[in-house]
Formats: sequence, structure tokens, C-alpha cells
Amino acid sequence: LLSKRLQAVYQMVDNNSRVADIGSDHAYLPVELIEQKVALYAIAGEVAKGPMSRSKEDVEKFGLSNKIDVRLGDGLAVIEANDQIDTVVIAGMGGILIQSILTRATVEQLSNVKTLILQPNIGEPLVRHWLVENNFQIVDEDIIAEDHHVYEIIKANKVTEPISLTEPEFLMGPVLMQKKTPTFVAKWQHKLDGYHKATANMLHAKKVDQLKIDAMNQSIKYIEETLL
Ligand code: SAM
Repeated sequence: LLSKRLQAVYQMVDNNSRVADIGSDHAYLPVELIEQKVALYAIAGEVAKGPMSRSKEDVEKFGLSNKIDVRLGDGLAVIEANDQIDTVVIAGMGGILIQSILTRATVEQLSNVKTLILQPNIGEPLVRHWLVENNFQIVDEDIIAEDHHVYEIIKANKVTEPISLTEPEFLMGPVLMQKKTPTFVAKWQHKLDGYHKATANMLHAKKVDQLKIDAMNQSIKYIEETLL
């Protein structure tokens, strides 16, 4: 039932958790988590009415409405204190949107949350910055290729002491850099080729944007050191 991408997100969820899937759309993930008895309870949160009512019908059809609540709302606003949600999943959106949803969450909405599982389609460093600045430590990451796109999945746990990352770790992911899977190497080799071409072109441009070239050269250095 789940796509390879959502399967990788599913794998990150701890047993017996209480999950809020924010921007759940079709609610595939909560349904699978409850059917496979990985989660005890799940909220499928969705800001758009269409997907929300369709998911509600599906959840009722499968007889899961005692364990899955489908709720209409913006971001973490669908979570109430007595839901005792310990795990929040936000998947399939850009890093800017994920960061904005997390930033708008209140202290109360995040109070019971121990684990965040985030799958940005783009802009992963932004998400890692939010995690570090808000006392979440990255404990696992995965990278998968599906339909000509590479997706990264980031799992982080709440900690009392903030744990900082190096610049290459913000860019490429601390766990992914350790795992160095073939998909990871292929992604960054491809980016490296792109940066080399771009910097070469920029040097020949009428107006040389030195700041941009310096930034790209910095990324090139980080990637080359990591892929060595
Ligand atoms: N999470 C699913 C997945 O990974 O396959 C669906 C991803 S879908 C591309 C993104 C969903 O997020 C859309 O259904 C959209 O309506 C919803 N969304 C966007 N902004 C949101 C917000 N602020 N709060 C809740 N849902 C939101």
C-alpha cells in the first residue's frame, strides 16, 4: 500500500507510539501504522477539506475510527493535550513549510512530543537548523530514490542539552554522512557535478557574483571531503 518513500517514513516510527501525521492527505500512513499495530493511536491532520473528508470516509470504511482521528486544521493545531501525542510526522512538503509549521507550534502542542519524523522534499538544511535550535537531536536518517527524486527522512528526539552540528552535517545529514549509502553518494556526486558546472559558468559571466561563487566553492569542499 505505501510508496517506497512513505515506507521509509513508516520504518522510523517507534512501537506503541501515539502519532500525529500533519498534512496527512490520504491518511495512508496512519492507517498502515494502526493496521500493523505499530502505533496505538493516530491523528491524521489536514488543512485541506477535500482530502480530510475523503480520509474520514476511508478510516470509517476500514473500521479504524476508534484509533484514528481525522482532523481539519493548520499544522499542530489539531493536537490537544489529552491526545498524548508523542510522535509528530510531517512528510512530503518543502523544508520551508515544515519549518514554518514547527515554528508556529505552541509550547503546549509540543509538550508531550518526544520524536519528530520529518521528510522534506527539498530544503533539508533548514529543517536540521530548526531541530538543533529547538533542542531536538537527530537520531536516525534515511535516503531513498523514487520516481527520479531523492528523499531524505530525518528522525529526531527531544533532548535537554542542544547538540550542534557542523556545516557539512547541516547540509548532508549527520547520520547520512556516516551511512554513506549508494543513494547518498549518487545524490551528492550529481550535486557536485552541478556545482562545478555552475561555478565555471559564473566565472565567465559579465558580472561575477563572488559571494555566490564562494558559497558554492564552500559546498563543493564539504561534499568532496565527505565523498572521499
Ligand atoms: N504526508 C503525505 C505524504 O507524505 O504522502 C501527503 C503529502 S502532500 C504532498 C502535503 C499535504 O500537506 C497536502 O495534503 C496539504 O494540504 C497539506 N498541508 C499543507 N500545509 C499544511 C498545514 N499547514 N497544516 C496541515 N496540512 C498541511
